[in-house]
Amino acid sequence: MAGLVAAARARQLGAAPAVLEKGDRPGGSMLLSSGVVWRHRSLEDFHEECPGGDLALQRRIVEELDDALDWLETLGAEPLTRETGNPLTVGRRYDTRVLTDVLVRAAGDVRLEEPFSEAGILATGGFGARLARERGLLLRANAWSEGDGLDYGVARGADVTAGLDEFYGRALPGRVGESEYVSAAQLYARHALVLDDEGRDLGEAAWHESDLVQRLPGGRAWYVVDARALRQSVRERTVADLVDVARAVGGEVRAAEELPFAIPESPKLAERPFVAVRVYAAVTHTVGGLRIDDRARVLDQGGRPVPGLLAAGADAGGIFAGGYGSGLAAALVFGRIAAETALN
Ligand SMILES: Cc1cc2nc3c(=O)[nH]c(=O)nc-3n(C[C@H](O)[C@H](O)[C@H](O)COP(=O)(O)OP(=O)(O)OC[C@H]3O[C@@H](n4cnc5c(N)ncnc54)[C@H](O)[C@@H]3O)c2cc1C
Repeated sequence: MAGLVAAARARQLGAAPAVLEKGDRPGGSMLLSSGVVWRHRSLEDFHEECPGGDLALQRRIVEELDDALDWLETLGAEPLTRETGNPLTVGRRYDTRVLTDVLVRAAGDVRLEEPFSEAGILATGGFGARLARERGLLLRANAWSEGDGLDYGVARGADVTAGLDEFYGRALPGRVGESEYVSAAQLYARHALVLDDEGRDLGEAAWHESDLVQRLPGGRAWYVVDARALRQSVRERTVADLVDVARAVGGEVRAAEELPFAIPESPKLAERPFVAVRVYAAVTHTVGGLRIDDRARVLDQGGRPVPGLLAAGADAGGIFAGGYGSGLAAALVFGRIAAETALN
């Protein structure tokens, strides 16, 4: 997303940028996403949620996201809704196909299946594919974000941020196709007793559940729910619906009594039947990356800008370290900032 946004903004400012896209389609992970572009309600909330993140970068997202969303509308991207459905956040939700088409049109010159060799603005989406492969985890993102931007920046003297071992994680019931990345996510750890392969309780998850997914031993767990939990709502569906999706995509769903260990006592298991769903940690995007300043300039270890090099989106780290935030918001805000810095 960040590359398309930067090009769209640069073209609007009178430049003639080209977006070099390694994949066979534009839109990156943004196209596969739920399309909710959001921010925490205040800078204080943001920093409390992502305490390892750079306050100056977080500030720009909080202060500029709303204007950036209005700017998307001037390009022709009408949101589906103007709220996120989560009282902790504010933002808008888009049809990601429409958003991609609008941005491609505004960016102008988008060349598919052309990995970059030289770049002024790095926006390759982080290194989720590489991290997933190295850790033996599932990937829930575009397949092309291998860390090419990170490697390019580091080779030119860039510093890296905190959070290189962190990722935005979601639990999936197994390997699923791209079109099921959103619908198959098992997003109900808060209603479940989460157990490892020995039946040990893995504890509670934060509201976004990404923290828990990152600490699943061996990248897997059992989510055990009771009849009451099955009736709980998760966004516009119920936990029972999500368990049905797990079953439909070939996931392992069983009566909890069939698990190969004794289930610990828990207030979460009160009303029978108890259902166990096998889940696997999936990498959606990475959190650490190239160090940038609040003008999207890539910095070296001395805090000096690396000449002629900017980064945006998940290639730029240090925004969400220690927590969870909107990767789409970071891509939108810093994509625009990168274009403005490049043309100043
Ligand atoms: C299923 C799913 C649901 C999500 N839901 C949300 C949500 O609701 N809200 C939210 O805020 N975030 C969400 N996200 C995360 C969000 O999509 C990402 O944070 C965001 O897309 C990151 O933007 P980006 O520009 O850094 O990367 P991308 O959008 O992935 O774009 C990076 C692009 O770089 C290309 N690329 C990689 N290497 C090269 C190279 N060497 N040369 C040229 N091109 C290259 C890739 O092919 C890709 O097109 C979701 C992600 C997924 C997968």
